[in-house]
Amino acid sequence: MERETLKFVIVGHVDHGKSTLIGRLLYDTGSLPDEKIEEIRKFCEALGKDIEFGYVMDHLEEERDQGITIDTAQIFFNSAKRDYVIIDAPGHVEFVKNMITGASLAEAAILIVDAEEGVREQTKRHAYILGMLGLSQVIAVINKMDLVGHRKERFDEVKRDLLKFLDGIHISPGQVIPISAKNGENVAKGSDSMGWYTGPTVLQALDLLRPKPGAADHPMRFVVQDVYNFSKRIVVGRVESGVVSAGDPLLILPSREKTTVKSIEEFLRTPASAEAGKAVGITTAEKVFVDRGNVLVPPGPPHPSVTNTIRANIFWMDRRPSGPGEVFRFRCATQEAACRIETIHAIRDSSSLETISRDGGEIRNREVADVTLKTEKDVVIEDFNLTEALGRFVLARQDTCAGGIITGFSA
Ligand code: GDP
Repeated sequence: MERETLKFVIVGHVDHGKSTLIGRLLYDTGSLPDEKIEEIRKFCEALGKDIEFGYVMDHLEEERDQGITIDTAQIFFNSAKRDYVIIDAPGHVEFVKNMITGASLAEAAILIVDAEEGVREQTKRHAYILGMLGLSQVIAVINKMDLVGHRKERFDEVKRDLLKFLDGIHISPGQVIPISAKNGENVAKGSDSMGWYTGPTVLQALDLLRPKPGAADHPMRFVVQDVYNFSKRIVVGRVESGVVSAGDPLLILPSREKTTVKSIEEFLRTPASAEAGKAVGITTAEKVFVDRGNVLVPPGPPHPSVTNTIRANIFWMDRRPSGPGEVFRFRCATQEAACRIETIHAIRDSSSLETISRDGGEIRNREVADVTLKTEKDVVIEDFNLTEALGRFVLARQDTCAGGIITGFSA
């Protein structure tokens, strides 16, 4: 049987111990090659320090820097139960961008808080983003317990503060774990200094998480990337969910034309079907008009919506605020359309979560807004929980300036 994989992110305020925890997880699960550990040990010795697990990340980053530009690195390790992928983004803007564009999708998150410093601004902002992105499986860890004498009282205090805040944004962490990432306490092994804690270690808590239900169980959605006219015409794209098979009837959105799948084309192969996650070509029985951005679905419901009016939560991630009447590029899966913000219903600061009232209605960096968007032409969208790729989008000028999750639409 194929081993199960679970993707997660680690978020938290800067310096609260994210890199150290990643290094620790890799080290304690034996996922680092001996030479790498030796290299890091020597490096730390030269600095007159004990081995610092944060350096593991720096070393991984160096390797990453030599590669092509990517916004995310994926880091692998495994427990006895399953394989894990840590999605590491250099900052929260990249994280939101990756999540929203689908470059990398996490199924769960570890939220890390420094026991000495307690809940800080970025702790709140990151937690809020997790909520907005629909990441409901969260493990909270209170790190650097060694710096507060491993005291239960301090743990309880920080835990209370954190849970109060998380409750307000409807996140209830499965576990809150006192750890020392640096010393490896309650990460993969228990801790003698915190005998008062009887819950799971971080690794055990990860093993308790559920992977998301597979996209394979959802209705078929094929997002068209391109159309090639070779000796036969091939519609190339990605099966976002479900399974497409030769002989299946198809509805083309937004045109609503109908056709049938004649064949599925892969390099030198013509498989009978292709499942979620596969990038393949399709030939159709009739000569119908298909274009980049179209979505091919089964003729029966549930259908995605074809609309030009979208209600969404957007996260602004550009220093330049939104301008009145400004025209953006709306990008969702392979669709692209000009768009305007028609109405701003509410704006919130992403760290204090306070509602902001402002004349002129601009949305500024790191604010979250509930908006209605109007696209210049119809687009194909769907509930985020049903088809992720059709439920999230970005707004762009030259570069991405906001990411969004669709919360409603009018057909
Ligand atoms: P990041 O910015 O969240 O990735 O934080 P780092 O992992 O780089 O850690 C920031 C600093 O906190 C570093 O100097 C770490 O050595 C230190 N640190 C991390 N975890 C612990 C811990 O459990 N105990 C102590 N005492 N220091 C820690």
